[in-house]
Amino acid sequence: MTAQSILRDTFGYDSFRGEQQAVIDNVIAGQHGLVIMPTGGGKSLCYQVPALMLSGTAVIVSPLIALMQDQVAALRANGVKAAFLNSSMAPQEQAAVEQALRYAELKLLYCAPERLLQERTLQLLDNACVSLFAIDEAHCVSQWGHDFRPEYRELAQLIQRFPDVPRMALTATADAPTRKEICEQLGIGETQQFIDGFDRPNIRYRIAEKNRGKQQILDFIREHPKQAGIVYCLSRAGTDSMAAWLNENGVPALPYHAGLSSEDRAFNQQRFLNEDGLVMCATVAFGMGIDKPDIRFVAHLDMPSSIESYYQETGRAGRDGAPAEVLMLYGLQDMVRRSQMLDNGEASQERRLLERRKLDALLGLCEVTSCRRQTLLRYFGDELPDPCGNCDTCLAPPVTFDGTVAAQKALSAVYRTGQRFGVAHLIDVLLGNETDKVGQFSHQELPTFGCGSEFNKSQWSAIFRQLVAMGLVNVDIAGFGGLQLGEGAREVLRGERPLQLREPSQKQSRNKLKVGRQELVSTEDENLFEGLRLWRKETAEDLGVPPYVIFHDATLAAITKTRPGSIVALGGVSGIGEKKLAAYGDEILRLVAQYITG
Ligand code: ADP
Ligand code: ZN
Repeated sequence: MTAQSILRDTFGYDSFRGEQQAVIDNVIAGQHGLVIMPTGGGKSLCYQVPALMLSGTAVIVSPLIALMQDQVAALRANGVKAAFLNSSMAPQEQAAVEQALRYAELKLLYCAPERLLQERTLQLLDNACVSLFAIDEAHCVSQWGHDFRPEYRELAQLIQRFPDVPRMALTATADAPTRKEICEQLGIGETQQFIDGFDRPNIRYRIAEKNRGKQQILDFIREHPKQAGIVYCLSRAGTDSMAAWLNENGVPALPYHAGLSSEDRAFNQQRFLNEDGLVMCATVAFGMGIDKPDIRFVAHLDMPSSIESYYQETGRAGRDGAPAEVLMLYGLQDMVRRSQMLDNGEASQERRLLERRKLDALLGLCEVTSCRRQTLLRYFGDELPDPCGNCDTCLAPPVTFDGTVAAQKALSAVYRTGQRFGVAHLIDVLLGNETDKVGQFSHQELPTFGCGSEFNKSQWSAIFRQLVAMGLVNVDIAGFGGLQLGEGAREVLRGERPLQLREPSQKQSRNKLKVGRQELVSTEDENLFEGLRLWRKETAEDLGVPPYVIFHDATLAAITKTRPGSIVALGGVSGIGEKKLAAYGDEILRLVAQYITG
């Protein structure tokens, strides 16, 4: 069978994406390979398709039990013989899987690394016919990375023990040192790397100044009714209160953070995976290994720590390729909180400087007036030739103005107060507010005092943020949030450098109105779509699997849109392979017909 026919018949897709075809050809030719694809890029098919083409069993090494279960359920729903071995199973279950392996009845076997490397398992594999090893989340090999797992290093044993079996390493984390380390550890040649770009075209990026925090998040969520999403918060307490508040406002939400018992965490995570339309309010503790494909939005109530984290966290949206939207709220206060967290920690001076630079780069992304996606991708070394047309700055280009004078006033307030005060006080000085602090330092005597009445408080904070983003002002390393002049500030003060600044808006809701909603299905089709979702939910419950194992949202949306009238037409919808067509085709056609006749 060809790769193409397996793709169509088993998985129901028309064509390969990105590097998938090349990766598959490479492994079919018996070669090792390293595969770097963004989240949602389609790494799984890179080994699932060859597993079905080659004789024997493909062994998939995966660190997370939940992920294995999901993948195995999804494969079985497509009629593929797959199983997993892990510590959560009863002995009889394990024995049954081992037996199936011995009798060559499995096309794919998922296994955690520590389990794989037990002598007992290795012997089992010695006697089986292993077609390939796929090592998922391969960056866990790397001591450079943040997900280092010692047992991943032991996988190097496979090189000697199974010299003739192709090894495929897969990850979404791709910086050069990590890549090099993976190749060295797993004996993969430098030339056998398959690297897809970082772009996630179906994700719409939005970034807004934080003013009413929670309310902004609620407004955003209300643009995505009945959809699943994640709200990332910085603190555990923030997570709990966000979840409680959403529930009070009629949005079903759950908390997730390291302060909850592991049972509560597992329970909430399971509900999030199995139910439609739940919002998970979480700290960064949530997400690793969550491959729910139909997360439609991700919001950040607080700024993440870096562009890398932002990319990774937002990347959990829209893995199924259907439209998804992400919103980050930010403010200088968040920057200060983040820096304080760093400064209170044990981190070395070098580490802190590095983290600071990352925060600065993130603020730069927040303040750009050009395409967000271009800025984001450039950070990872990807060039996008044209503005994307699917981010807030593309959809509602910010208005800029000649901000030279405003910048001079702001910089001079920083300078004349001695480069040690935070934004709030500097704004009081600019606005001429006679606060206690102003009196205490006699700042009402300064020529800058009261010189900035043309802008209000929130407009001045927007101006300061842009100056920080441009490096003209630095936030004090000691972490009290004092502002200091940065490189280039003097040229601005001397009038040698004109500045374009973003027009400080009166109200942030402007952004939302202009950008507008993105729909999976049009309003008139909503009933059919909801009907299909209800059917999917009931079917999933009967089978004890998450709804997306039956069909992805994107597939239901395509059915809604095309309203197929025959099995053949239904089979042409992306995401419906032969097995699912046979199992659910009639029911779906009935639902569609019912809807059309009304
Ligand atoms: P990841 O790279 O994050 O592991 P997955 O393998 O989970 O990504 O794939 C993400 C989604 O894209 C899945 O829902 C998968 O079914 C879908 N997908 C992968 N390849 C294709 C393709 N060639 N055509 C259509 N959908 C695809
Ligand atoms: Zn754009």
